[in-house]
Amino acid sequence: MSVWAILVAAGRGERLGLDHPKAFAKLNDQVLLAEPLRRLDESDWIDAIVLVAPPGWEEPAILLAEELGCGKVSACVAGGERRSDSVRAGLAEVPPDAVVALVHDAARPFLPEDVIERVLAPLSDGWDGAVPGLPVSDTLKKVGADGAVEGTVSRDGLWAVQTPQAFVADVLRRAVASDADATDCAGLVEASGGRVKVVEGDARLLKVTTADDLAKIASLL
Ligand code: C5P
Repeated sequence: MSVWAILVAAGRGERLGLDHPKAFAKLNDQVLLAEPLRRLDESDWIDAIVLVAPPGWEEPAILLAEELGCGKVSACVAGGERRSDSVRAGLAEVPPDAVVALVHDAARPFLPEDVIERVLAPLSDGWDGAVPGLPVSDTLKKVGADGAVEGTVSRDGLWAVQTPQAFVADVLRRAVASDADATDCAGLVEASGGRVKVVEGDARLLKVTTADDLAKIASLL
């Protein structure tokens, strides 16, 4: 089965307060994008990669891939306004005969090989997609605009979901065919009637949102 990875890196990352996009934030002696790109390229499970860069940053993204010797990068395209638009742009570069599309957030640089293996496995058992997740451990409150607690939400059966997310490529194509939006690809697939399984994620797959997250990830690498 041919597995194509779509690495979405087109977010602006405004909460980092930088004058360049989050994918090009400094992480140890490299840029953030370098780590997930290298890991996908080195993965035994991945055949080819489509890189989705911030608009206007395609050239530096290609140069980075060349510098890292990432031979699996087959295309680099500009992302869109919303994450789902960026996924759409990346998927358009995946050839029709690809069997699996695996979408990963560049903002989650720590990408363990065993998580890739875990999200791919359910696709052989007839699932449309599989995503890594961790059961929610904090107590959840519904909070009003004034900060007042309006209720406690049961965390029974609630999971926090991460990337990489793997899908039968045709299922993801159908899910993004409309202009639908969701915060992750599984949301688009669920909305179009697909069956998605949650497998065990990894706490180190945390998403870089703030400068503190960058420091936390830097210490993990
Ligand atoms: O914005 P959020 O934190 O959900 O972004 C998750 C991932 O999606 C990041 O890697 C970001 O670069 C990517 N993204 C994108 N295009 C957008 C918004 C986010 O590729 N328009």
